[in-house]
Amino acid sequence: MRVVVDLNRCQAYAQCCYAAPESFELRGAEILFYDPSPKPEDRGRIERAVQSCPVRAISLEVDEPAAGTDR
Ligand code: SF4
Repeated sequence: MRVVVDLNRCQAYAQCCYAAPESFELRGAEILFYDPSPKPEDRGRIERAVQSCPVRAISLEVDEPAAGTDR
């Protein structure tokens, strides 16, 4: 699972920080720090963060299991 935030689009609304505080953090007025490789168990909160961003700055890529595996 990979997270990318378009920092040119981000307006520091901090909605992602409320949705997934373990993965997104605003430092100062407008500097967003985030975890680009969050743990699988954080996926639900990350998806809420993606949905909550007013400017759709957050992208989430999820690795699908390889075909033929039972995971
Ligand atoms: S919710 Fe969107 S605009 Fe706000 S801090 Fe997070 S990424 Fe930036």
